[in-house]
Amino acid sequence: MTEAEILDRLNHRVRWPINHPVIHGIGDDCAIYRPRGGTEDLLLTTDLLIEGVHFLTSTHRPGDIGHKTLARGLSDIAAMSGAPRFCLLSLGLPKATTDKWIDNFYSGLLKLAASHGVVLAGGDLSRADQITCDIVCGGSVPRGKALLRSGALRGDEIYVSGALGGSALGLASNKGAAKIRHLRPEPRIALGQYLRQRLHATAAMDLSDGLSLDLARLCEASHTVAGIDRLPLFPGATPEQALHGGEDYELLFTVRPGTRVPTTFRGIPLTRIGNMLAGTIKSLKARVLLAGEPLPALGHDHFRS
Ligand SMILES: [Mg+2]
Repeated sequence: MTEAEILDRLNHRVRWPINHPVIHGIGDDCAIYRPRGGTEDLLLTTDLLIEGVHFLTSTHRPGDIGHKTLARGLSDIAAMSGAPRFCLLSLGLPKATTDKWIDNFYSGLLKLAASHGVVLAGGDLSRADQITCDIVCGGSVPRGKALLRSGALRGDEIYVSGALGGSALGLASNKGAAKIRHLRPEPRIALGQYLRQRLHATAAMDLSDGLSLDLARLCEASHTVAGIDRLPLFPGATPEQALHGGEDYELLFTVRPGTRVPTTFRGIPLTRIGNMLAGTIKSLKARVLLAGEPLPALGHDHFRS
């Protein structure tokens, strides 16, 4: 089974009692918990970072791994337009892990946490065969205002922040600005809130698994078909790395046609890459078209054989 197939099966087995406070579940960047009588919704997301799967200790310093563990979770909060508040961290560590490694790991994580006002509020520790970092992030958003993947409408314009393919290039080349991009992604928290408050974005998600796969997921959730014709390439990255490379942690979002989107937000470029087409998946035969041709969703799926 692919990741999507596993989630689809699971979704059919999860029972949702009537009037349950979790109002949005599997299949978006965060789950949404709505406290009774509150003015805010609570956003919750979890992520795994595993040695040998997501990183190698030969290329990633402990501080990089700490940073990335939290950045992945914060990026999901950003994608829903939330303000991050806290995290919980469970760590599995092999016997050979040094005290210094552990200290430096926490330094990388806590530095990023402090810069966003995030508190490390708990977690668990265990022995493991490989370094295993399991993070839960919690945040808040004004009640009913979270940006979902499912809100895009036909005719909407599609945008991405930043430049794409940098992380894939950094992974391949292990040098320069692309390497930093790969090791230390910056969650787009302020941008996520701006998309809701100022641009009235209709849908958003973060780019963790590659544009081709993530945009297809957004289209699936919104029942739309995307036509894209432009890509902001990270300097030196190939179009393939920009389309299918993962871990850029930029935001993908849609706005109503005619929305005035500035070319940058706090120095981060905002690029229109296409729009949601008028036709249906049946008539257009794909979720995403690149220059009119179906774009295979080759982004990262752990379970695709
Ligand atoms: Mg995400």
